[in-house]
Amino acid sequence: MNRLARNSLKLSFEFFPPRTEAADEKLRGTIERLRLLRPDFFSVTYGAGGSTRDKTFETVMEIREMTGIDAAPHVSCVGSAPADLTEVIHNYKKHGFDHLVALRGDLPSGIAGGGTLRHANELVELIRRETGEHFHIEVACYPEFHPQAHSAEQDLENFRRKVEAGADSAITQYFYNADAYFRFLESCSSLGIGIPIVPGVMPITNRDQLVRFSEMCGAEIPRWILKRLYDFGDDLESIRGFGIDITIRLCTQLLDAGAPGLHIYTMNKAEASEAIWAALDLS
Ligand code: FAD
Repeated sequence: MNRLARNSLKLSFEFFPPRTEAADEKLRGTIERLRLLRPDFFSVTYGAGGSTRDKTFETVMEIREMTGIDAAPHVSCVGSAPADLTEVIHNYKKHGFDHLVALRGDLPSGIAGGGTLRHANELVELIRRETGEHFHIEVACYPEFHPQAHSAEQDLENFRRKVEAGADSAITQYFYNADAYFRFLESCSSLGIGIPIVPGVMPITNRDQLVRFSEMCGAEIPRWILKRLYDFGDDLESIRGFGIDITIRLCTQLLDAGAPGLHIYTMNKAEASEAIWAALDLS
């Protein structure tokens, strides 16, 4: 990839806030490695109901101090009172952050949502109402459609609500079927949705974890991939080798067809992202 093409891509890495000191240390090591790949930004997830409120804040502060690279905190609205969300947003503004990923979030089953914001478009509205155009706001979208969506059409309409509320760009849920993404882009374009839609990519490194996550978030693992992953049995190295190969092919296909960037769900690890960057010559 030539330098001009690389420079026009939006490349980012997502982390979750670590829960232990050992995990903290491990994430620092990952950040030190991934900063060398010169992403446009790092993002850090936010536990629904505000469960990681402080830790998300600490993590983006640390990333910014360590790397000087843009760090975008996620904020999810379900289960949080609007007054608390307003405080969180103003606190980020006060500390010089100008990039947010705005989500609804998912509460663990059995916990009732206490907040009055039910959907991410309402959170985007709140952020715009409170802080005007200060933040660049990213939202989520779903090329294979959100698992709770009544229909593909309604899910697209609901995505449009977030864009109309003021979202600047979007990151997709992960997928392994590039056609779903391309078709999604076509549908968005015909609805007049013009913001950049960056594919979210989950490198395949751990079969059991991937299967668990995919069941929860509704991402489809194509049968042929799943079958091969199970054929490897406990041979973790082969699972990883095959998984990274599949991921690199997917990323190549996406970028060759004009995807505006890549957002990698790193699971706080560096190896897969490094392998993708090397194979695609993105550094
Ligand atoms: P919404 O846009 O609110 O959509 C949720 C569902 O409601 C969809 O079915 C949609 O069609 C429907 N809907 C939307 N708006 C309306 C409306 N106005 N009226 C009626 N129906 C509507 N979760 C976290 O808890 N923390 C994170 O940090 C986090 N980061 C993520 C990052 C990315 C890039 C992605 C793709 C997901 C992330 N998630 C995170 C998961 C996300 O919170 C879940 O997928 C959640 O189920 C939906 O979030 P959303 O923002 O897309 O919700």
